[in-house]
Parts: sequence; C-alpha cells; structure tokens
Amino acid sequence: MDENCLFCQILDGHKPASFVYEGKNIVAFHDINPEAPVHILIVPRKHIRSINDLTEGDRGMVSDMFFVARDLAKEMNIEKGYKLLLNVERGGGQIIFHIHLHLIGGWKR
Ligand code: 5GP
Ligand code: ZN
Repeated sequence: MDENCLFCQILDGHKPASFVYEGKNIVAFHDINPEAPVHILIVPRKHIRSINDLTEGDRGMVSDMFFVARDLAKEMNIEKGYKLLLNVERGGGQIIFHIHLHLIGGWKR
C-alpha cells in the first residue's frame, strides 16, 4: 500500500470505482475516461510501480492478470476482438504508477 497512489486508495475503499471483478490478488474496474465502449483496468492488489519493478515472486500475479483479462473479455462479449495494453513508465504513457493492464474493446467493426 502506497498512500499517495490513486489505485491503492481505490483498493482500500478510500476512493470510489466501478468494480467488475474483485479477486484475492487482482481487481478490475472501469476506466474513468474510457477510450472505447469497453475499457477496464486490471489491477493487482499489491502496489508495484511498473513492469520494470516486478520480482520473481510476482510471476503468478502477472499470469493472473492475463487470465482475468481473458475471462472479462468473454463476460463483456468482446472476445471477438480486443486489445490488452500495458503502459510502462512516463515515456510509455504511464500516468498511474501502480501496474495495470488495460482491457479495451467493444468497437462495432
Ligand atoms: P496509464 O496511462 O497509467 O496506463 O493509465 C491510467 C488510466 O487510469 C487512464 O486510462 C485513466 O483514464 C485512468 N484513471 C485515472 N484516474 C482514474 C480514477 O480515478 N478512476 C478510474 N477508474 N480510472 C482512472
Ligand atoms: Zn498503488
């Protein structure tokens, strides 16, 4: 828990979010500023700044993030086409420094 981290505040219940999944290690909620009809953020409960900061013990958690993404894509009926995006550090467009996987889809095409 990093008290200055927005996603830790959401995970702690100090800030609201629209949750679609709440598991032991991973949660998922709607992005506040969606870039597509479906835009969900898949977030580990553990505060980790970015992919660069992963350690060996995080392997299972990273795998869980992708399985949650797969299951949510199905639940949201977008399994025919979606994107999974990880922005890494400022140069990669990361603005919230708590790892999260974007699940983006739902376009009519
Ligand atoms: P990043 O660029 O760090 O990969 O993405 C951060 C994402 O978090 C952005 O898509 C942004 O819209 C979203 N976001 C920022 N603040 C909040 C918030 O308070 N609540 C939710 N649900 N999403 C947020
Ligand atoms: Zn955090």
